[in-house]
Amino acid sequence: MLLIHCPYCREARPEIEFSYAGEAHIARPADPSVLSDEAWRDFLFIRSNPRGTHYERWRHTHGCARFFNAVRDTVSDKFLMTYEAGRPRPSEAEIEEHRS
Ligand SMILES: [Zn+2]
Repeated sequence: MLLIHCPYCREARPEIEFSYAGEAHIARPADPSVLSDEAWRDFLFIRSNPRGTHYERWRHTHGCARFFNAVRDTVSDKFLMTYEAGRPRPSEAEIEEHRS
């Protein structure tokens, strides 16, 4: 069973309690009315699809119901770390601390 650590509940819980909520750190444009159709399309639909480290939003749907961010390795499907929403993207050094 895959366990995911909720940074708010501060415990690892079964993955069935969680919902994937898309890529993390996608900033909403300050003034969407000035964007071209292509730029608006890119904001809405274009996402990265990396092999390896991926920054994701997750929600503890059947727990505290809060959104948080996670760093997951898409090759091994392992969660490298989770952190509160609103925190900046963690550095490689910070991720490495959690990897071991
Ligand atoms: Zn929680």
